[in-house]
Formats: sequence, C-alpha cells, structure tokens
Amino acid sequence: MKIAVPKETWEGERRVGLVPESVSPLLKIGLSVTVETGAGASAGFSDDDFAQAGAEITSGDVLAAGDVVFKVRAPSPAEVERLRPGTVLLALMDPAVNESLIAGLAGRKVSVLSLERIPRITRAQSMDVLSSQATVAGYMAVLMAAQRLPRFFPMLMTAAGTIKAAQVLIIGAGVAGLQAIGTAKRLGARVKASDVRPAAREEVESLGARFVGAELLDEAAKAEGGYAKEQTEEQKARQKEVLRDSISKTDVIICSALVAGGRAPVVLDAPSVEVMKQGSVIIDLAAEQGGNCALTQPGQEVIHQGVTICGLLNVTSMKAADASRMFSRNLTNLMKHLAPKGEMANLAEDEIARACLVAHDGQVWSGGSPATEAGAAGGKS
Ligand code: NAD
Repeated sequence: MKIAVPKETWEGERRVGLVPESVSPLLKIGLSVTVETGAGASAGFSDDDFAQAGAEITSGDVLAAGDVVFKVRAPSPAEVERLRPGTVLLALMDPAVNESLIAGLAGRKVSVLSLERIPRITRAQSMDVLSSQATVAGYMAVLMAAQRLPRFFPMLMTAAGTIKAAQVLIIGAGVAGLQAIGTAKRLGARVKASDVRPAAREEVESLGARFVGAELLDEAAKAEGGYAKEQTEEQKARQKEVLRDSISKTDVIICSALVAGGRAPVVLDAPSVEVMKQGSVIIDLAAEQGGNCALTQPGQEVIHQGVTICGLLNVTSMKAADASRMFSRNLTNLMKHLAPKGEMANLAEDEIARACLVAHDGQVWSGGSPATEAGAAGGKS
C-alpha cells in the first residue's frame, strides 16, 4: 500500500500529515510513501529530508496516487474529486461542520477516518491527535500571553528592587490546560487553575499549581472518555461568582474549557473581564468552538477596558514542526495498528477504526455504524 502526503491547502495551515522521521517506520511494515513536492516546506521539512528518509517525491497528483492519504485538514471539494474509490483518508474532518463533504466522500467510495474521533482508551493514546495538538496549543497560549503582558512572568530581584511574579489562571485543566500550567510555571509565574471534573484537581496540584473553585467540582460533570458535560445555567452562574475573586487578582487567563461535542462553555462574561487589571491578557484557546469568554472574537485580538482578549485560531500551526511531528507519530502509530504487516485491516471490524469512520463502503458512518446511504445528504458527486 502507498501512503500519500499532499501539501495542505487550507489557508494558514502550516502543518503536514507526515514528517521525514516517520517514513522509516512505515517502510518497515511494508508500506511505501509518496510526498507532494513542497508538502513539508511550511513546517520546516524539505523534499530532500523526505527523499533521504526513503519517500518518493512527486509533483504529480499525489491524492490520486495513494491507497492511504495522510492529511491534517479535511480536503477541499476539489481535492475530494481527485481521491480514487477505495482510498482510505486520515484527516481532522471536523464532521459536525463537514456533513456534505463527508457525504461526497462516501459517494466516491472513499473510506474516511476522522481523527477527532480516536477513542480515548489506553490502547489508542499514542494515536490521539487531539491530545498531541492540545499540548502544542497549551504551550503556545502561554508564550503569546507572556509576550502581550506588559509585565514579567517571573519574580525578579534586581538592583531596581523586586518585581512580583505574574499571576496566571488556567480555566479548563485538560491536556492543553495542563501543558499551559507547566509552561507558565517554567516561566516563573504563580499559577492557579480551575475545572469542573474532580480528577483535574489532583493533576493540577501535581504540577505545583493551586486549584481554585474546589466547590465547583462535580462527579456528574464527567462524561465518557474524560470529557466534561455542559453545566446547568445555575452551575454556570455559580462558577462565575466563585471565580470572580481569583479573576480580579489575575494578570493572565488561559481559557481551554471544552465540553463533549458542543459549543465551548462561556466561563467569562463581560463583568468578569471588567474586574481584571489594566493590561491583563486573556488567551482563549476555545475560540474555534465559540470561546470561553463572551467577548472573544475568533481569529482576532480585541481590547476591552484595557484587557487584551485573543481568540486564537489554528494556534498549532505556529509550532508547525513539532505539531506535525506529533501528528505524524500519531498517524504512524494508527497505521502500525491498522496494517502491522502492510495490509489494511477490515476497518469496520477494528474497534479504533470503527469509532473514527465517517465514510465507508459508499455510506456515511457515525458512532461505529453506517448512518445513511451515500449521497442522501446531497453531497454525492
Ligand atoms: P477537553 O479538551 O474536552 O476539555 C478541556 C477541559 O475543560 C477538561 O478538563 C474539562 O473538564 C474542562 N471543562 C469543561 N467545562 C468546563 C467549565 N465549565 N469550567 C472549567 N473547566 C471546564 O478535554 P481534554 O483536554 O481532551 O481531556 C480531558 C481528560 O481526558 C484529561 O484528564 C485527559 O488526560 C483525558 N484524556 C484521556 C485520553 C486517553 O486515555 N486516551 C485521551 C485524551 C484525554
């Protein structure tokens, strides 16, 4: 089987689905690799790097050449047309948004594994693209905050006197939030964090941060797979009240709270932002899902009463080399699981693949089984 790696076409996307160091593990299981000319350039990997690793470089139609396509973003409609029937596509498909695109792929008899749906089970941890990319996002959020804050992060004792450490609050202590805690602490800030899942408290404290809002923790907030459930209106109001004091003393807030399959919870409303100090910074990693701050404008940086609010989009592309490296390792691990001897497993019968299938055998799939006939949603091509 041939793995094909196209250059990403989504505007602003710098990552690539496979990096040179992952070529050899794929060759070892009997696969071959073809990479489109320039596919890794914006992530810092040259065609020569890929060629030296054993990949074939092509300026031809790489999408039509592969049996399995490694992609970061969902294909454009034009790219869908170039995929051959029987191809297996691995990509972050954003299935809630791309329904008709997926119906079109099913209509072309392309099998599609939507990488957001890798199940959160121990066996699949090394394939978990959402976790690896959240790590990048958590790290970048802190660096961006440190750059924008008109203060130092660490305490400094200088001839000009002592400068106090910055206070950082992380809301949502999942994978991104925990990485943000570690990064902010390494920069010398005083770090607090809050979440609604009880398990998060121990993780926050084990990183040396202070947990705030212990009274908000609720076993019932936990959904399957480590996700959180949406809170009731009453809980949401209580959370704003409980966090208000910490917010008023904070220089930086990193928002990374998400709930299973829904819009991001709004944890910061305008009155919460207005109690923050002048020059404070909010980095909203949940901007793509609507934002944890009511004033967030996705993709933009706004200033509200002296507080800078960044609605980050595509933050992982800012560290495209390592984000791609992690993504590529995730996909390579998935391929080693699905084709340990170079032959593709029956996707419909494999627990991990089945959970991710959104198109297979001419049908749209959802939740591990066919959802509808291909093209029924109007996307058949
Ligand atoms: P996520 O991105 O879905 O959510 C981020 C965090 O926001 C979560 O910790 C969630 O509890 C929190 N949150 C939701 N609503 C909130 C609110 N109103 N206020 C404050 N916080 C709120 O989650 P994630 O980062 O992907 O992971 C969550 C957990 O799942 C972690 O403990 C992680 O270790 C675990 N996990 C396990 C696996 C695996 O076993 N394969 C894979 C990924 C994640």
